[in-house]
Amino acid sequence: MLHIILFGPPGAGKGTQAALLQDTYSLVHLSTGDIFRYHIKNNTELGAKAKAFMDQGQLVPDSLTIELLQSEVEKHPEAKGFLFDGFPRTSAQAEALDAFLASRNQKISALIALEVAEEELKLRLAERAKTSGRVDDADPKVIENRIAVYRNETEPVKDHYKKLNLYHGVDGVGSINEITTRLTNVIDAL
Ligand code: AMP
Repeated sequence: MLHIILFGPPGAGKGTQAALLQDTYSLVHLSTGDIFRYHIKNNTELGAKAKAFMDQGQLVPDSLTIELLQSEVEKHPEAKGFLFDGFPRTSAQAEALDAFLASRNQKISALIALEVAEEELKLRLAERAKTSGRVDDADPKVIENRIAVYRNETEPVKDHYKKLNLYHGVDGVGSINEITTRLTNVIDAL
């Protein structure tokens, strides 16, 4: 089984690349952000809980997020593997993911981080705000907050997978095709 974590700050291009990679490798793409937005759109209880955090650029609490992720994985018993996008975002989530996969005799194959400088991220998110309809893209203060949360809470996840020798960094600046090629080079060499 191929279990890839596509990692990187908001605006790094995870969603764009995941959509392309899922077809190439026949993986199930799981984006916790997309799943939360689906719940908000459908007015579920989980959506109502998540919305307040998301609109402020804060992380949804680990307990809710981990439970959601596990139930989404369990919905796909036929999967050849997963492409995790936007999860794990804290060390606790990483540990929970590893333990969950271990309980199924599986493990993460690689964490691949898209590297993009902060100024470029802000430009990309401001551009995305014009079409995404996302509350959290529209306000520069919320964007700042999301980048700060990434630095403080999410970046330590890199160290977790570096210790396990599963970390790969990829330059996230270039054309979509160039970046896809960089990612597939890493995956094909696993
Ligand atoms: P994204 O679409 O990945 O940019 O996520 C949008 C928002 O959803 C984030 O700013 C968080 O509020 C929430 N979110 C998504 N994934 C997670 C996660 N793994 N842990 C906590 N909150 C998350």
